Amino acid sequence: MSRVSANSVLLVDDDPAIRELLSIELEEAGFEARQAEDGIDGLVKLRDELPRVIISDLQMPRMSGIEFISVVRRRFPSIPVIVLTGSIPRELPEEIKPDHWFEKTARQIPELLQTVHDLVRKTPDPADCPQVISVPVRTRPGFAGHMILTCPECLRTFRATSTSENKRVDRTAICTYCEARVPFLIESSDPA
Ligand SMILES: [Zn+2]
Repeated sequence: MSRVSANSVLLVDDDPAIRELLSIELEEAGFEARQAEDGIDGLVKLRDELPRVIISDLQMPRMSGIEFISVVRRRFPSIPVIVLTGSIPRELPEEIKPDHWFEKTARQIPELLQTVHDLVRKTPDPADCPQVISVPVRTRPGFAGHMILTCPECLRTFRATSTSENKRVDRTAICTYCEARVPFLIESSDPA
């Protein structure tokens, strides 16, 4: 279960120069800055610690900001999200609308820091954040011993193989995207 940090900000951007610049600015403003290089790495970082605010880019390899925000909105709806992007898209689905938008320009930094301060003040105390309890994912055996599972961490579906090792009671598959350990149950009786 992730612990919640009192003043940490998770910065998700594939450009190391931008991460470095903003980390310095955030730390000078009194925040603890943590960095992730794309959406998948962002989800891995959320495993150990929940930040008070997330700042995310949109264009990133492996998992874009759009997909990352949609996962954060479903799993951690109380964490505010700021998008920092080169160009603001005109249309975005309602469920992934960020709390704030900023363009990637140096003159936006003071306003961005002020927004982070405001969001931290408005966000409920870390203790009030709902904690997600993991339950085994249910699946049915598919062709050739393959099963389709939905990862509870990155919400992508992946194919797991039924091996002699995971035919025990506590079956676990490793997500092929974010490498989360996913416990699962097979619903109907196993023909093997
Ligand atoms: Zn996953």
